[in-house]
Amino acid sequence: MRVGSGFDAHRLVEGRPLVLGGVTVPFTHGLLGHSDGDALLHAVMDALLGAAGLGDMGRYFPSSDPRYAGADSGELLRDVRDRLRRSGWRPGNVDATIVAERPVLKDHLDAMRQSIAALLELQPERVNVKAKSTDGLGALGAGEGIAATAVALVEESE
Ligand code: MG
Repeated sequence: MRVGSGFDAHRLVEGRPLVLGGVTVPFTHGLLGHSDGDALLHAVMDALLGAAGLGDMGRYFPSSDPRYAGADSGELLRDVRDRLRRSGWRPGNVDATIVAERPVLKDHLDAMRQSIAALLELQPERVNVKAKSTDGLGALGAGEGIAATAVALVEESE
């Protein structure tokens, strides 16, 4: 077994859909990014790649590459899952925390869990998604953006 960690943050801007964990959350603002800006899936991908010793998202999906403009991060996570598989690893479990002052995410966490589990072909029990605010501290506390951290365990596949 190996463990990896991931982190990501994106700025919140008006007029973009808010996509987190592959789930579109109703809100006035969305995350700015070269792809769909899904900071949660990006943190999960980096945790999985890190656990497998395969580097990070930027190695496979560089933001300089126009192919990934507006990319569905769910597709990128599937690609990461397949890369792990080809390298002899399968995800064991994923635990993630979203750091967001707004919107309130608690009613969407289970959908994110189900979405990530489906993308990774894991039982939902092996995925956990939490949300925290920073009690108003800093740029995240001012609602300027949303961040996410993730830890993933991978197991050697037989
Ligand atoms: Mg990102």
